[in-house]
Amino acid sequence: MNLSYKPFLLQFKHPFGVSSNTRKYTESVFIRLEFEGCVGYGEACLPAYLGETVAEAQLFFDQAKVHLKAMDLNQGISHILAQIDQLSTGNNAAKAAIDIALHDLQAKIEHKTFREIMGWEKVLPMATSITIGIDKEEVLRQKIQAASEFAILKIKAGTQNDKQLIQLIRKYTNKPLYVDVNQGWTNKEEVLDMCHWMRDQNVILLEQPMPVAMKEEMKWLTERSPILTIADESVKRLKDLESLNGAFSGINIKLMKCTGLEEAIKMIDFSKRNNLNILLGCMAESSCATTAMAQLMHFADYIDLDAPQLYKNDPFTGVTYKNGKVVLNDLPGIGVEPKFDLFVE
Ligand code: MG
Repeated sequence: MNLSYKPFLLQFKHPFGVSSNTRKYTESVFIRLEFEGCVGYGEACLPAYLGETVAEAQLFFDQAKVHLKAMDLNQGISHILAQIDQLSTGNNAAKAAIDIALHDLQAKIEHKTFREIMGWEKVLPMATSITIGIDKEEVLRQKIQAASEFAILKIKAGTQNDKQLIQLIRKYTNKPLYVDVNQGWTNKEEVLDMCHWMRDQNVILLEQPMPVAMKEEMKWLTERSPILTIADESVKRLKDLESLNGAFSGINIKLMKCTGLEEAIKMIDFSKRNNLNILLGCMAESSCATTAMAQLMHFADYIDLDAPQLYKNDPFTGVTYKNGKVVLNDLPGIGVEPKFDLFVE
């Protein structure tokens, strides 16, 4: 198999504000995997907070390229991915790109959708949350209005003024909210009080309220919280999930954290068996990786797959959005196509 890659700057329609910073773009590296005249696509999305850089992803792809060149798809995706995984301990986003491209390629070779290959039923459109970046009141009002077709809003909290932010949003909409704190709170009693207050504000889930290191405090909170507690930074891969031990009532699975579809499916299986709620999320990917993740949405209790909506120069077509719901197409593979010849030098 032949691998090529292309770094790309995904540009936001509006600067994207969270408690710690505001970004204008996200760096991604797209890959193209070719075998016997067929082509599969993948994406490594690398926002700065992920800690994986474009240069590191490129180095990993250069390394993986040599191995993939000697491999045959007929060896089986699991076997190939196990070898790729052994090349390094990190590079999860780069590994996810290869995983996505392999699944896309295999299904295309068989002229089937990825879902058909997996033996899954056709999936109905599903409502996603859309993230409303922190902003001044007038801009916030406009963003809420622009998101009118979406049934659920997600906000990034973790500031000194979280109650005010939620109260501000409540001036303009009563839609259910997902609140993502990104480890920003540290006093468990205050967090529990906040959970009760948020329940009355129609907040239906709380993502990663406390730092990863505060696992015992999270367990204490989850045993008492009236709303769902969802692990994000605390769970990257299957092994983290296995050691969670009641610290959260659900998990946010992201392809860029967990190394791709193969491991995401294992995490879904573990979560179902252990009664954990499943949120499928993203790292601000383009339509390429978002469409790959959307293939799994029928397994999810909640989805947060709005990222392609946020960009003005998405280089891929894939999922579409109708009435606030994610809609999959029936194209072979994972259902993505580049809008232009992205890989030409
Ligand atoms: Mg999060």
